[in-house]
Amino acid sequence: MIYFDKVSKIYPDESKALDGISFGVEPNEFITIVGHSGAGKSTLMKMLIAEDRPTHGAVFFESANIHKLKKSQMNKLRRRIGMVFQDYRLIPNKTAYENIAFAMEASGHTENEIASDVPHVLELVDLGKKIWSFPHELSGGEKQRVAIARAIVTQPDIIIADEPTGNLDPVNTFEIIKILQKIHKLGTTVLLTTHNTGIIDEIGGRVITMEKGKIIKDDKHGKYVL
Ligand code: ADP
Repeated sequence: MIYFDKVSKIYPDESKALDGISFGVEPNEFITIVGHSGAGKSTLMKMLIAEDRPTHGAVFFESANIHKLKKSQMNKLRRRIGMVFQDYRLIPNKTAYENIAFAMEASGHTENEIASDVPHVLELVDLGKKIWSFPHELSGGEKQRVAIARAIVTQPDIIIADEPTGNLDPVNTFEIIKILQKIHKLGTTVLLTTHNTGIIDEIGGRVITMEKGKIIKDDKHGKYVL
């Protein structure tokens, strides 16, 4: 589904964020990418959504080199990818419902689809009762659940969650991981990055360990090794 072919990223200040990364992602995998802060995890995710270009190498989505796609093709591909970030990125003056509705409008959904899908997706992340709450009325864990609901409502093929639990306590971290696992079971490919080594054994599945821009371990039934 996705293939990174010897991808390196060297920033103008000559820092090597990625150093010859190669790996593939099969449909419906749940992959955790773990490594200390600065290991290159976010840079890797940026390559996948073409927010930045590799200095060397190529990234393929199905058989297309994503950095060679036309803008319209790239927009189409982006719609197949749902993003979740550490800082939630919710619109502050919109309710949970409106935040999700806004994302659906942007991807061309009708009023009727929005009215039926938003409550459903909030139920899926156990937030049915907070549908009319604004972000400042939600806890960090709840905000992240709204962000996940927003990412999945358009039924992407893949969810990229870049340090989604970075601002959360252990209880909320566990809740978010459980929700990502539930989404995975429903048929979505999940790519999760974390520096929280404590949750690796909890998650199970494939674990890719990064250090200084390199993959130092790719384990089908991962355990933390750093
Ligand atoms: P992680 O997500 O694992 O914490 P990053 O991918 O954010 O790591 O960063 C990897 C390395 O690349 C770090 O050394 C970081 O300082 C560097 N880096 C990231 N983005 C930039 C940038 N825009 N310009 C220069 N260096 C960068």
